[in-house]
Amino acid sequence: MQRRDFLTGAGVAAMLPLPAAQAADLPAVRWRLASSFPKSLDTIYGAGETLAKRVAALTGGKFQIRVFAGGELVPGLQVLDAVGNGTAECGHSAGYYYVGKNLALAFDTAVPFGLTARQQNAWMYAGGGLSALRKLYAKYNVVQFPGGNTGTQMGGWFRKPIKSLADLKGLKMRIPGIGGQIMAKLGAVPQTLPGGDIYPALERGALDAAEWVGPYDDEKLGFHKIAKHYYYPGWWEGGPQLSFYVNQASWKALPEQYRQAFEVATAEANQLMLAQYDAKNPPALLRLVGQGVKLHPYPKDVMLAARRATFELYEEEAKTNPDFAAIYRPWKQFRDTEFQWFKVNEAAYSNFNYYVK
Ligand code: CA
Repeated sequence: MQRRDFLTGAGVAAMLPLPAAQAADLPAVRWRLASSFPKSLDTIYGAGETLAKRVAALTGGKFQIRVFAGGELVPGLQVLDAVGNGTAECGHSAGYYYVGKNLALAFDTAVPFGLTARQQNAWMYAGGGLSALRKLYAKYNVVQFPGGNTGTQMGGWFRKPIKSLADLKGLKMRIPGIGGQIMAKLGAVPQTLPGGDIYPALERGALDAAEWVGPYDDEKLGFHKIAKHYYYPGWWEGGPQLSFYVNQASWKALPEQYRQAFEVATAEANQLMLAQYDAKNPPALLRLVGQGVKLHPYPKDVMLAARRATFELYEEEAKTNPDFAAIYRPWKQFRDTEFQWFKVNEAAYSNFNYYVK
């Protein structure tokens, strides 16, 4: 190009991408997203909407994703299967719903005494987590993307205070997944109930305790009206990550520009959910305490016994499940190194600011 041409409008236009012309060449694509979550969980369900809106905006409206709440297209706990078999092109779910298929899928969400949200992001985007998990998800015909995080969850609502490990004996608690398995080892009787069924079970005394998410979501379900004792931390969910799933064939068929749009929109949704929880949980906790909720840390003997039982379970699983071992070994090393770093600097900063008057 001549320098003279370069300075004219025509010359500049020739050098710049032409989004409108490009978009005209790209196909209209319509996908369905099967979410595991009800619309009432606005922060979690909302990640699917965030993704759909951004993908449409980045593709001139050509790539449209329609979001279906849990149960609308498929039951909430069948999203992995639905995306794997192409019933939906994509989904939004949590890996630990599918530990019945493979316990290693829990690393995609949270495992007891695992990573915080910050550390999970570090592992996923920069610590080998995403490629390790994609290898696992390929067995289920799915490509996976980080899709939000709730931050450290609370440890649940108890009708009576828990003073020591002995108080867990025979206690009926709604706590699903590996956290429930550990609670069983500590003497409790874990129950798996969907969100809508927890309040009535607490009310009629079928449950002594229940965990859900954190102040913002828990307040909406009203547990504080029955069980006043609110424990922390939720040691089984230090930074649970939600995930977007895409059917492998659908992903391969997608134009490169749409893949870029999808990928960047998942990263946005991932960040936005944690921001919403971190902004909404503090005022919700203040409201709950204002209504007479009593906050308690888990007794130290409970925490210590839970951690011991947790790592015994991981070591046992790693002996018989090669998928689990392949992720667990490097994950554990990454976790331990992260904890060393956060212990030195972040914890000192936080402890001084939060506790020293
Ligand atoms: Ca939970």
